[in-house]
Amino acid sequence: MKFLIGCKPETVKPDTGKKVAIIGAGPAGLAAAGWLRCRGHEVHVYDQFPEPGGLMIFGIPEYHIPKKSVREGVRELMEAGVVFHKSTRVICCENNTPENGVREVMKKWIKETVCLEDLIEKYDAVLIATGAWKSRKLNIPGEDLEGVYPALEWLLDFSLVYNGYKDPDDMMPLHGKILVIGGGLTAVDAVEVPLRFIGEKIDKVYLSYRRNRKYAPMGEREWNRLEKEYSDKFVGLEQTIPVKFISDDRGHVRKAVLQKTKLVEVEKGKRPKPVPIPGSEFEVEIDYVLVAIGEKPSPPFEDGCAGIAVESWGAVKTDEKHRTTREKVFAAGDVKHGPSLIGPAYKSGMDAAKYIHMYLTSGRWDF
Ligand SMILES: Cc1cc2nc3c(=O)[nH]c(=O)nc-3n(C[C@H](O)[C@H](O)[C@H](O)COP(=O)(O)OP(=O)(O)OC[C@H]3O[C@@H](n4cnc5c(N)ncnc54)[C@H](O)[C@@H]3O)c2cc1C
Repeated sequence: MKFLIGCKPETVKPDTGKKVAIIGAGPAGLAAAGWLRCRGHEVHVYDQFPEPGGLMIFGIPEYHIPKKSVREGVRELMEAGVVFHKSTRVICCENNTPENGVREVMKKWIKETVCLEDLIEKYDAVLIATGAWKSRKLNIPGEDLEGVYPALEWLLDFSLVYNGYKDPDDMMPLHGKILVIGGGLTAVDAVEVPLRFIGEKIDKVYLSYRRNRKYAPMGEREWNRLEKEYSDKFVGLEQTIPVKFISDDRGHVRKAVLQKTKLVEVEKGKRPKPVPIPGSEFEVEIDYVLVAIGEKPSPPFEDGCAGIAVESWGAVKTDEKHRTTREKVFAAGDVKHGPSLIGPAYKSGMDAAKYIHMYLTSGRWDF
């Protein structure tokens, strides 16, 4: 099965003379690239990773999304004439430096840095589709200790190794007893990828979630599956929150202090609020922590840069036609609507592409 892009060389319409830059080669960016290329526009896709695919290649494990199907879709786009600028990070040069905000694990892979302002100047339209890669922080003591990782950072590092871009010996170390914190899709992968791929080096994986499995975003069924499939190593710690992490004398995390919660009904139809129970703290011995409490949209700039506004919760501000506050510039996918799934991100990319096409063919921003 090929990841559906839907633009074959023989279906590309004659050149329109218009050029579109897309920042981000995840499902949103790829969907838009295919749609626009097929309408005869010249399409350039910029991505900081060494390969297109976004989270489908560098986050979601193979057993959920076969990489082959994504690669076949990308190959089809290339054959249709989409130009990919790999390992190229786009930044807003107005208030930024090339290193600013670059994840440690990515430093080696970024070969070129391009200014967003130059893309806006050079292209007829620009689409921002940079996803949601900012990991939320717990803001508790000990979060900066060695061995406490944002889960997405470790999953990205693992993906670089899995896809052959990094030597396994250089991988962020993970072994012994792991504590995963969270209850969503990232938490599931943070539990399962180490158990499946690191195998015998993992003694135990604790999963701490502030509510119980019934209310976990991953779904009760997924929690039950983890419990059943990995019964020898998986330990679910429902209704607990981390209070602090304690280090050994070398600054590496060794213990987590967790506190139990009770669930208090708030409004009908809403998930109950987890309230910490005083005096219920207990310690768990651990070697590593993977923090998977959610991601935030990650535009390649701060609010107002190049005239593009960012919402208080981190997403690029757009109207109903995916237009940002800067003429020529559109946004789609998780950077527009917040963390979601492949399907909604893909659809968002397609929708944005249709509006970009309307803009390019009408020549009016108020189309
Ligand atoms: C761990 C995890 C597991 C998931 N599992 C599933 C699943 O099983 N099923 C499902 O449907 N969904 C899953 N999701 C959600 C899904 O992956 C996302 O909703 C979807 O990939 C979002 O698509 P996108 O195109 O908006 O962004 P992304 O896929 O994140 O792509 C954004 C791209 O932009 C690039 N980029 C970012 N900043 C810059 C910059 N400054 N310059 C250049 N390039 C840049 C990134 O390198 C990336 O390639 C999962 C998410 C996570 C985090």
